[in-house]
Amino acid sequence: MNTSTQCIIIGASHAAVQLIISLRQNGWAGGITVISDEAHLPYQRPPLSKAYLANTVQDEQLALRAPAAYEKLDISFKLNTRVTAIDTDKKHVHLDNGDLLSFDKLALCTGARARPLPIPGADLNAVHYLRTMDDVKGIQASAATAKSAVIIGGGYIGLETAASLTKLGVKVTVLETESRLLKRVASPQVSAFYLRLHTEEGIDIRLNTQAAELMGDQTLSQVVCADGTAIEADMAIIGIGVIANTELATDAGLAVDNGIVVNEFAQTSHADIVAAGDCTNHPNPILNRNLRLESVPNAVEQAKAAAASLCGGEKPYAELPWFWSDQFDVKLQIAGMNQGYTEAVVRGDINNGRSFSVFYTANNKILAADCINRPKDFMLAKKLILQNIECNSASLSDEHIELKSLLQ
Ligand SMILES: Cc1cc2nc3c(=O)[nH]c(=O)nc-3n(C[C@H](O)[C@H](O)[C@H](O)COP(=O)(O)OP(=O)(O)OC[C@H]3O[C@@H](n4cnc5c(N)ncnc54)[C@H](O)[C@@H]3O)c2cc1C
Repeated sequence: MNTSTQCIIIGASHAAVQLIISLRQNGWAGGITVISDEAHLPYQRPPLSKAYLANTVQDEQLALRAPAAYEKLDISFKLNTRVTAIDTDKKHVHLDNGDLLSFDKLALCTGARARPLPIPGADLNAVHYLRTMDDVKGIQASAATAKSAVIIGGGYIGLETAASLTKLGVKVTVLETESRLLKRVASPQVSAFYLRLHTEEGIDIRLNTQAAELMGDQTLSQVVCADGTAIEADMAIIGIGVIANTELATDAGLAVDNGIVVNEFAQTSHADIVAAGDCTNHPNPILNRNLRLESVPNAVEQAKAAAASLCGGEKPYAELPWFWSDQFDVKLQIAGMNQGYTEAVVRGDINNGRSFSVFYTANNKILAADCINRPKDFMLAKKLILQNIECNSASLSDEHIELKSLLQ
């Protein structure tokens, strides 16, 4: 392969790192330049709300690769640098320092950013979002002196943050506008379990509650809810979802529709530009639909397809989505996606203790499973889903019947 060809990767996170590795594995001999608007070499994002916030993982352990690995792969990084525009005709990118960089191939691994909360006081000191390592450093600085925190949003990030701050000795209140936690992603049964878990751990969960105003003299002191209730708080974290970073792609004339539109080979509507990770809207042949995912396994597997395309090969991205979340002593592993399920079958005791699985079925087929502290169920659920095995509710819920025996 031509050693003078240049590949530029925008973003330096999970998708970008896999892309670098796969490019070299696929024989890309040209230059690779990674441009990131963050100050750090690529690091793992999932521990940010978990072990890193709880202070049990240090900065070095967060690194996705040691710096020497990038040297060995001959990667050039431009950190603290933002790409402001892509010229698809001239094939160069504009940087915020005024420079232009030419590319032969371009990869958009721009991910997503925290969704801002448009209420008064959201810019006060001690009000935080949680997407980056620097965000967590800010949260930790506030937590060092805080006695109480309000978390706005009862999704995974909000709940993981609630668990980590509780471990740090901060009294936490979670505000959720919906009638249950995790409403967008979990079934009512699993939502009820998380309400029990967090309540057992001393967290004050307030459902059907909307934060209307953050008040304080420069620094937050109170969160006022839409019903007029005021909650004293030394800090707040806003976790109300993310927005995909698609503006560069839109401005460059690429197809964008709830994410940068790519095909199964991670190719955008421009022949020399691929995209991977949280920023893409891609087809999933197993689920038979297009979707945008926010998960590390998605970023990594899609980046492998993108690298193959950049090297002139074809490696379709066709994986069953899976996710995880750690809160207190509970590891949730999710296989598949439960949209369209008609029955939620519980295996184990969902009302007591912290170990059970919920299988989501339709027409006697499993679409997805939420496995709480049950790694074995998770592994088998993946196989049952992928092999499209027929199983009835009775055998899924009966713990005397081994799940393994349902595999053909
Ligand atoms: C707190 C937290 C916990 C999470 N927990 C889990 C979990 O348990 N399991 C799981 O699977 N997933 C989890 N996720 C989601 C997971 O981290 C993402 O799916 C993953 O990081 C996506 O990787 P990515 O490479 O697509 O993009 P990102 O990680 O979003 O990285 C994109 C990078 O590109 C940069 N960038 C964007 N635009 C530009 C530009 N114009 N110029 C230069 N740089 C730019 C961004 O600043 C960012 O650094 C979590 C996310 C967060 C925030």
